[in-house]
Amino acid sequence: MALETMGLATRLVHGGTQRSQFGETSEAVFLTSGFVYDSAEQAEATFTGAAEHYQYTRFGNPNLTMLEDRLAMLEGAEACRVTATGMAAVHGALLSHLTAGDRVVAARALFGSCHWIVSTLLPRLGIESEFVDGCDLDDWRRALARPARLVLVESPSNPMLDILDLAAIAELAHAAGAMLVVDNVFATPLQQQPLRLGADVVVYSCTKHIDGQGRVLGGAVLGRRGWIEDVLQPFLRNIGASLSPFNAWVLLKGLETLPLRVAQATRNAAMLADHLAGHRMVAQVRYPGRADHPQHALAARQMQGGGTMLSATLRGGKPAAFAFMNALRLVAISNNLGDSRSLITHPATTTHMRIGPEERARLGIGDGAVRLSVGIEDVADLADDLSQALDQAGRAIG
Ligand SMILES: *Cc1c(COP(=O)(O)O)cnc(C)c1O
Repeated sequence: MALETMGLATRLVHGGTQRSQFGETSEAVFLTSGFVYDSAEQAEATFTGAAEHYQYTRFGNPNLTMLEDRLAMLEGAEACRVTATGMAAVHGALLSHLTAGDRVVAARALFGSCHWIVSTLLPRLGIESEFVDGCDLDDWRRALARPARLVLVESPSNPMLDILDLAAIAELAHAAGAMLVVDNVFATPLQQQPLRLGADVVVYSCTKHIDGQGRVLGGAVLGRRGWIEDVLQPFLRNIGASLSPFNAWVLLKGLETLPLRVAQATRNAAMLADHLAGHRMVAQVRYPGRADHPQHALAARQMQGGGTMLSATLRGGKPAAFAFMNALRLVAISNNLGDSRSLITHPATTTHMRIGPEERARLGIGDGAVRLSVGIEDVADLADDLSQALDQAGRAIG
């Protein structure tokens, strides 16, 4: 029986496992920076590529290989490389592919550090970059009427959960000569498969749902074997954004329970979105699984679930949002996401502080907006906590 033909949950427990001579049940941890050779000839053959042998953990390590194979199996990708952080993955995917004189088009609603790379770092390196309204296909058509080398998007986007039409954007990107890179963190590999929708490369912050228990940082890049091996790998090997073997092991363990955690958090998120929408303090809820989401039909077509993230805009602006967050007892204030614990953040004063009020207004991030990363706790406890905190906020601002 080939593992590739088995169900997803099975692949996530067994995929990529390589047992050592000791026959351990759980994957061993290979905490070693280097590897030894049986002979000078074997070392030579390893360096010429005639023999397969690990050389140095910056280039590869059994824990990294196990994680890469399991992630590739999950995504349905030909190949995967893992990195120290999600940003190392995004940075690697972009800078391994781009050269001075190239042009990049990106959706405006990007994770803060991705926005910085596109708006600040790329132009410094002589790479032209342009932002578009990711939900407006006419804006994409206008920007991609000129040749481009790479397109970067995120869907659902952070923090307002915009849904971008990945298949349509892939077509426009390819017609302009560009490769489409999708940051798939918010959807998770379980609820959206960008490669099947026409994307060329998928990137993850494994820090989020893949670890899912708030322990380690990690990243992954997935795509075609030729591109991964010939373009990405030489870049990653030499810049040194390598994932620690221990962190790779933690992420392997995270993948085993990913379907359970994402399913529970998604059920909770759908219920809490409805719960919040019914409270008088809440002006608007954004959740891709709700019929009132502006791109609900697209979300239903392109995703297999509404995700674990939601945003809500409170009546009363920043004072209401702060009073609400400070009154929460179970939900913690944190800018992290994709954790088993429910976490809340106020994007305007934290994750999206640096982009300034005009850009925030363009992205629809109001001063009353909060972003909730829903965890796997009992949903009744979360609902009670949100209600009592909204009530307190209501009393506080009158
Ligand atoms: C967290 C995150 C990143 C960056 O990942 P790190 O692991 O923090 O480097 C990139 N994109 C999205 C959408 C994220 O949520």
